[in-house]
Formats: sequence, structure tokens, C-alpha cells
Amino acid sequence: MQRQPLVIANWKMNGDRKLVTTMAEALREHAADYPAVQVVVCPPAVLLEAWQQAVFYDQIYLGAQDVNEHSHGAHTGEHSCSLLAEAGASFVLLGHSERRQWYGDSEPRIAAKVSQVLAQDNMTAVLCVGESAEQRQQQQTFAVVAAQLAAALGQVARCEQLVIAYEPIWAIGTGATASPEQAQEVHAMIRQWLTEKFGSAGREVRILYGGSVKADNAAALFAQTDIDGGLIGGASLAADQFVAICTAAQTRSS
Ligand code: PEP
Repeated sequence: MQRQPLVIANWKMNGDRKLVTTMAEALREHAADYPAVQVVVCPPAVLLEAWQQAVFYDQIYLGAQDVNEHSHGAHTGEHSCSLLAEAGASFVLLGHSERRQWYGDSEPRIAAKVSQVLAQDNMTAVLCVGESAEQRQQQQTFAVVAAQLAAALGQVARCEQLVIAYEPIWAIGTGATASPEQAQEVHAMIRQWLTEKFGSAGREVRILYGGSVKADNAAALFAQTDIDGGLIGGASLAADQFVAICTAAQTRSS
């Protein structure tokens, strides 16, 4: 089975209602350029409802940038998986390096979030993994990524609701993209890890690359065997860039 190309926008703490309208219009106008691509937008949670209204008739999926590891209760400022689902999200980013570095997303916490998401019907977990510049220099990339996968997915038995995003920390928001070959090498290692853990179902899991993907480098990245699409930060805030990246992903289906 061919894996459907996937492009996910991570707006982080950016965007507003005006950008929701502009981006939704641009995606609607150009949808025919990438009919085979699944497009997901992860805005700040308070913009999910505006997105839901803007794309009511469109084939655009919504996602959240994080979730709490508990199902409900006294967790001021947090969102449960069921609340996010009610707000229209069917994807959740987990373990983004910004959350690992600055917001206390430890390995056990990420694993608990993964189980929350996998327990929710029609919800997909997008697990972000990746090494720092120092770890790459010390040739620890494979070991670091494998350890992150094992910590988050050790207790997970099925992978149908799973996407992996390989995001080298040194490439996020820096303009320093991994070369297609560098990225493919890690994606192939992740693919092998997934097939060892989940058997043939691991071959169906989509693995995205994230880290300074732009309109002008997307096609070369998406041409690699195990790069099934992208997780896009900065370039997902500019309609022309994001549309071009979605269009580049369409070539994977031909
Ligand atoms: C991200 O934060 O997930 C990301 C990939 O950001 P950028 O595209 O800006 O590097």
C-alpha cells in the first residue's frame, strides 16, 4: 500500500483569525494542485474553532500542538484530548523539541500523552523526535532518535494512529535544513525501528521531515524514499509558501 503524502502546518504561537481566513482561502483555491495530499493545520488551540468554520466544506484536517496527559481534572490552562477532538482536532503533535526543551515534556510525560491520544477515537499522534547539533556532531543521532522512539512507544501495541516527525533540533527555525540524504538516512533508520516493533504495519506509518522546509527545498526532500511529507513551521504562515510545499508533496503520489 502506498502511504498518503502528508503535510502538517505547525503555527506555534503565531497567526490570528485574519490569517485563518487568508490561509483557508489559499488552500481552497489551490486544492486541485495536490489532490492526493492530506493537509493538516495545527493552529493555537483557541483558533481551532475559527479553522473549523473556515474549512467546513474542505478536505483540510485540524490538529493541536500539544495535549495534557490526563483525561480531565484540575490542570489549569491545559487541554484534554477529548476537548481537542470536540474543537475539531484529529491530529496532535507530541514531543515537539520546543516542548521538550522549555515546557517540561519529559520522556514519561510524552509517553503518557501518546496513550491519551491513542485511546481517543479518530485521533492521530504525531510524535516528534530529533537530535541536537551537539548530538549529531558526536554521531549520536541514531541512538538519540531510537531512545526517543522507545521511550514514547515502548508500551504501544498498534501503530495505525501514529505519524512520526523527524525534526533535527538544529534545523528548526534556523534556515539550516538537513540535506535530503541526511534526512533520508534517519528516516530509513526510523522505518526499520517501526517495522521491528510493529511488523509489516510499521511500513505504513508516515514519517515526516521537519526543520526549515521551504517552497524551494521541499521537492528534493519529498523525493526521498522514506520522507512521506513535512511538518512545517515558519513557512506554514505564508500562504504561497505553504501551498507550494503541499504541491511539492503531490509528486510522491505519481
Ligand atoms: C517546527 O517547529 O516543527 C518546524 C519544523 O519549524 P520550521 O519549519 O520553522 O523550522
